[in-house]
Amino acid sequence: MARHGPNALPEPPPRPAWRTLLQQLQSPLIYILFVAALIAVTLGHHADAAVILVVVAVNALVGAAQEGRAERSMAALRQLSTLRVRVRRDGAEQLVQARELVPGDLLLLAAGDAVGADARLVEAVQCQAAEAALTGESLPVVKNTAALPEATGLADRRNMVYGGTYVTGGRAAAVVVATGRDSEVGRIAGLTEGAAEQRTPLERRIDRFGRWLVGAALLLFVAVVLLGLWRGLPLAEVLMVAISQMVSVVPEGLPVAMTIALAVGMQRMAARGAIIRRLSAVETLGSTTVICSDKTGTLTRNEMTVTALWWPEAGGRRAEVSGGGYAPEGEIRAGGGLLRADADPALAALARAAALCNDAELRPPAGAAGWSIAGDPTEGALCTLAAKAGVDVAAARAAAPRLAELPFDADRQLMATLHADGSGGARLLIKGAPEAVLRLVAGHDPAARTEAEAMATRALRVLAFASVDGLAADAAPDPEAYLGRVRLLGLAGQIDPPREEVRAAVAACHAAGVRVVMVTGDHKLTGLAIARELGIAGAQDQALDGAALERLGEAELRAGITRIAVFARVHPAQKLRIVEALQARGEVVAMTGDGVNDAPALARADVGVAMGITGTEVAKSAAKIVVTDDDFATIVGAVEQGRVVYGNLKKVILYLFATSIDEVALLLLALAGGQPLPLLAVQILWINIVTEGTLTVNLVMDPPDGDEMQRPPVARDDALVDRSMFGRIALMASVAVAVTYGWYSTRLAAGVAIEQVRTETFTLLAMCQWFNVVNCQSRWRSAFLGGWLRNRWLAGGLAASVLLQLAVVHVPAMNRLFHTVPMTAALWGTLVALASAVLWAEEGRKLLARLRGAGPRRAGA
Ligand code: ADP
Ligand code: MG
Repeated sequence: MARHGPNALPEPPPRPAWRTLLQQLQSPLIYILFVAALIAVTLGHHADAAVILVVVAVNALVGAAQEGRAERSMAALRQLSTLRVRVRRDGAEQLVQARELVPGDLLLLAAGDAVGADARLVEAVQCQAAEAALTGESLPVVKNTAALPEATGLADRRNMVYGGTYVTGGRAAAVVVATGRDSEVGRIAGLTEGAAEQRTPLERRIDRFGRWLVGAALLLFVAVVLLGLWRGLPLAEVLMVAISQMVSVVPEGLPVAMTIALAVGMQRMAARGAIIRRLSAVETLGSTTVICSDKTGTLTRNEMTVTALWWPEAGGRRAEVSGGGYAPEGEIRAGGGLLRADADPALAALARAAALCNDAELRPPAGAAGWSIAGDPTEGALCTLAAKAGVDVAAARAAAPRLAELPFDADRQLMATLHADGSGGARLLIKGAPEAVLRLVAGHDPAARTEAEAMATRALRVLAFASVDGLAADAAPDPEAYLGRVRLLGLAGQIDPPREEVRAAVAACHAAGVRVVMVTGDHKLTGLAIARELGIAGAQDQALDGAALERLGEAELRAGITRIAVFARVHPAQKLRIVEALQARGEVVAMTGDGVNDAPALARADVGVAMGITGTEVAKSAAKIVVTDDDFATIVGAVEQGRVVYGNLKKVILYLFATSIDEVALLLLALAGGQPLPLLAVQILWINIVTEGTLTVNLVMDPPDGDEMQRPPVARDDALVDRSMFGRIALMASVAVAVTYGWYSTRLAAGVAIEQVRTETFTLLAMCQWFNVVNCQSRWRSAFLGGWLRNRWLAGGLAASVLLQLAVVHVPAMNRLFHTVPMTAALWGTLVALASAVLWAEEGRKLLARLRGAGPRRAGA
């Protein structure tokens, strides 16, 4: 490590702070403000110009700080998904960070692994690698260990694997020869590194929305200038106010709010076990209408125990296995009698095949932990079974060494191993899904098929075992070559209990208008039995298996797909068809996957979800989110968070609209009524930048409202300002305008000095915004329940806003800059009471909404 350095590419230098700051200045709002400052200077209003420039500076600093914070938290999240690789060090297999690899390390690779560094193969079993990232070749390359001439080109070096590529089949061991900058990817890095994340669809919609508002602001500018001139007000003052008014319509807070909303959503999802790899997934999750989920490990615990056995002796013999977990404590009984391998040759052959055609290891209790397994739980359970039958797994493996193998593959649905038979020959052991294995057996054994289905109906995961005897030691480990000689050894049925939390998560999906579909490699009846248990399949729902799916045309599949709750015996390639058929019906599809061959379906789905524990690196790299605990409930939690993020953004939009309409309407009314300007340019700027600035962004930190999962998914073409929002905007704005304009006119008519009236109107308007922001937090929940206290960011923002308003009214220097005069405490009280009308109006509307059934329904309601 000291000599070669870490196995990592040099990080691109982080964006310097001054660039983030400069970027804040590149917005239409800032341009408008600069123009305003220029006009102020030419008119000789130097104090106003200074205020505007300070506002610009503060706005840029705050924006840069917030953006920097969002960026840092996203970088921290990216760290969570760094690559880990398997190596053998000091004779022991270990999992290490890829950046810790050094030349000389022995890499252990299996299908689906990412290769951590360039390495020379020393062992390769059916090993294939996808090297498109390096060579552009899209088909997997078969690897071996043979020596090659020195001049062999990169793409033809069959005895090498390279960092940045993936193993797509078989397994291998390889010695690392180059890491970091010395590796092949290291040399071409820089070209590919640092591709910036594209803007998400929602970000683009918000950008468009913002541009539209800028257009509206320009129109307003013209309207105010014309109205002002018609009323005979001085041009300079009218221009300044018209410009400030434009500023109030430009939603300057929105882009930052968007960035922070996505970052916060990402953080909250990560805290609950869902790591976001593509930012766009945050919003797509909120729109998800169908979740297609794996069964094993995601809906179930993936803790297998063999409970039923069957073998073809005398027309068929059934046995039950007792004992739970992986502990080899339990008995095998048939018809009341206890069975042991040493007294029962058929059971012995089955148990030995279970021990040998198996890559898992059973581990005795260590410390507080009980018996455990290393490897695939399906196979671990078979080690336990063999031990219960009285077969010593380690001794059996030593006595019949493995000569060759055909690794398990989700497409083939079986594996085969070739073992020395002790007399110079060899025997092939086969294990896999009953259909796949029975197909090879002479006569297909109808009794075995019936029994396999009976086990599947009891929600058991069934494996069939077979053997081919009398082979040569160098025979090919491919059962297809020995059709007619394959002998059935028996069946083993395993239970895999469902995860407790899944039932509730499925019910939550249904309440939220999200359909759940099981997609499994397991048998149709096993899948359906578990789907029924979990509430995924109801009485009318059907299961379809891969073979039947194959026979359906696209149109038929699309038409029938809504009735299918379980897709069984599905090959990974068929997952892609399922995704496409659902998408053709307009569904937004989340699809889970873990294997190498799942990558195309994961990439195609709207939200590809890779499993963190069982998932391969290939699947993770194709997915948009990785679920660290493999749990279905975590996916549902992420969907909820996606909806929260979207809901919070809409709160921001609602608030920005309600407030800018207040100011615009107040100004237009006064102009039309021939009154003096109710607010000065700097005061309008203050409301926009200071009052809104301290409040807007904090709305995106709001916790869930509680009814997110009782509404239908967010439509992808959902309007950013929908009908119910229009209603609320109209309500809040009309009350605020009535209060502020009413107060302004009354005070003017009473002959109060204009500076004093403006200060009061200005403060009243700021107060309306304090109440508005609390109003916008929920569409049904009363503000008196203190939602704004639970969002400590918002509570802090409110406190800051109040203090700043006190300062602008009472600090003498601020009085000079903002043309304000101090107010009495009694006046403050009166104004707060008046402004609270905005709150009461929304509280009334919320009460009505609740009476009509808005808000979270109680369970069972
Ligand atoms: P899922 O993960 O959806 O349950 P898999 O693709 O893992 O499905 O498995 C499909 C079928 O392949 C299983 O029902 C089982 O019969 C068989 N199978 C699973 N694991 C193994 C294995 N390690 N060896 C042999 N057969 C297996
Ligand atoms: Mg599986």
